[in-house]
Amino acid sequence: MNIQNYINGKFMPPIANGWLDNYNPANGEVYGQIPNSSKEDVENAYIAAKSAFPTWSQTTLEERSRVLIKISELLEENLQQFAEAESLDNGKPVWLAKAIDIPRAASNFRFFGNAITQFASESHESIGHDAINYTLRQPIGVVGCISPWNLPLYLFTWKIAPALAAGNSVIAKPSEVTPMTAFLLSEICLEAGLPKGVLNIVHGLGTTTGQAIVEHPDIKAISFTGGTATGAHIAKVAAPMFKKLSLELGGKNPNIIFADSDYEDMLETTVRSSFANQGQICLCGSRIFVEVSIYEKFKTDFVKKVKTLRVGHPSEEKTKIGALASKSHLEKVLSYVDIAEQEGGKILCGGKRIGVLGYENGYYMEPTVIEVPSDECRVNQEEIFGPVVTIMPFNNEDEVLQMANKVKYGLSATLWTNDLKRTMRMSNQLQAGIIWVNTWMMRDLRTPFGGIKASGVGREGGFEALRFFTEAKNVCIKY
Ligand code: NAD
Repeated sequence: MNIQNYINGKFMPPIANGWLDNYNPANGEVYGQIPNSSKEDVENAYIAAKSAFPTWSQTTLEERSRVLIKISELLEENLQQFAEAESLDNGKPVWLAKAIDIPRAASNFRFFGNAITQFASESHESIGHDAINYTLRQPIGVVGCISPWNLPLYLFTWKIAPALAAGNSVIAKPSEVTPMTAFLLSEICLEAGLPKGVLNIVHGLGTTTGQAIVEHPDIKAISFTGGTATGAHIAKVAAPMFKKLSLELGGKNPNIIFADSDYEDMLETTVRSSFANQGQICLCGSRIFVEVSIYEKFKTDFVKKVKTLRVGHPSEEKTKIGALASKSHLEKVLSYVDIAEQEGGKILCGGKRIGVLGYENGYYMEPTVIEVPSDECRVNQEEIFGPVVTIMPFNNEDEVLQMANKVKYGLSATLWTNDLKRTMRMSNQLQAGIIWVNTWMMRDLRTPFGGIKASGVGREGGFEALRFFTEAKNVCIKY
C-alpha cells in the first residue's frame, strides 16, 4: 500500500517524486512505498500551516477541544484497523498495539483536548507600585514534531495533540520505518473536521525531510523524540536560529532489585520491563542490578521465565515477542551479543536471530539475558534498544547507586524495595527524569515526562507540554 503526504487537508505525492520502500518486519518483504519528501514539500507544508495559523490560534478552546476529542473517538472506533497497521509496519504483536499503542494515541488527544480547557496563566500584583503583571500564554506559530519508530502513533500524537491544543499549526514527520498509522491519522483528522493546514504530515528520511523541517527558519519550535546522536545534531542545526527545542532521547535505564521487594511481582514486572515491545521502549530497564543475597535465585527464576517467552508472528495471540522494527536494527542489536562475548559477558539465554516458520526472513531475535563482569562494559553503557538485558549483583545501596548513575543517560530508573527510607534516599539521588518504585511504565499523563544528561532536554506531558508549545508574554499595567 502506498501512502502520501497530507498537506493543506489534501493527500499529495512528493513533488520530486522520490519514494522509499516500506518493509514488513514480520517477513522482511516490501509492502508499500512512502514519499521521501524534499525541502519543497516541507515548504508547501509550511505555507499551508502558516496560512492556517491565524484562524486556528483564535479558535475558541471549546472548539479546539471538541475537534481533538473527536479525533480521539475516531481512533477508538478504528482500533482494530490501526492496531493491525501498526503491527504490520513495526513488527510488534497486534494484541500489544491494540492494548497499548492505539488506546494511548486516543488518550493523548482526549487528554490534551481536556487539558487545554484547564490551562491557566499567572498574574502578579506589584504591591506598592500600583501595577499588575499578567502572563499571556500565546501559541508559537508553526511548529515541527519528529518522532521515532518504536511506539509510532503513541509518540507521534504525544507531540501533535498538545501542539494543536495550544493553538499552533503543525508540520509533523513520523519515522520512515513506521509511517502507516500517521498516514491513517490524516484521514481521521479530515473526518473530525480539523481545518485544513492546521496539521500537515510529511513523510521521508530524517536526513532529507527531517533535516528540512529543522533547517526551516520559520518553524519556530521543534519537538523531537529519537536517538541521542540525532538529538545532538538537531540541537546544533537549530541553535543559531534560536528555536525552542524539546529533545526526548535515548536511555540505559537501571532496574535495581533489593532482597526485601515483593518477589513474584518484581519478577513478573521485570520480565515485562526488559522485553515489552521487543525491548524497544526507551524506558525499558535494560540494566538489572540484583542484591547479592537473592542474586542466584533471581538469575535462575528470571532466565527460566524469559526462556518461555514465545517469539512469533505479530498477528498470533500467543506471541509475546514479535519482530524487531528493521533489518539494520536487528543487525545492530545482534552485534552487541558479540561485543558482550568479547568483553567476557556470559549469555544466559538467547543471543541469536531465529526463523519463525513460514516467515524465515522476518527480523526475529531470541530474548537475551547477559551476565556482565562489570558495570563499565559496553553492553552495560551503550543503548542497545532491543530484547537484550544485562544482569549483575550488587552488595549495598552506595555501590548500586554509583553503578546506576555511571552512564551518560538519565531517562528512567526502577527501584524494587519495601523500605521507605531507602526509597526516599535513592529517589533523591538517582540521576533520571522518571523513577518507578515497585512498578514500571505506570504513566499518568499529567506528570512531567523526560530525561536528564544525554537522555534529553525539556519535559513533555500535562501542562509542561502546553508550556513548551506556547510563549509566555509578561504584560505589566500601571494603574
Ligand atoms: P532516530 O534518531 O534515528 O530517528 C528519530 C526520528 O528523527 C525519525 O523520524 C528520523 O527520520 C528523524 N531524523 C533522523 N535524522 C534526522 C535529522 N538529521 N534531522 C531531523 N530528523 C531526523 O531514532 P529512532 O532509531 O527512530 O528511534 C530510536 C531512538 O529513540 C532510541 O535511541 C530511543 O531511546 C529513542 N526514544 C526516546 C524516547 C524518549 O521519550 N526519550 C522515546 C522513544 C524512543
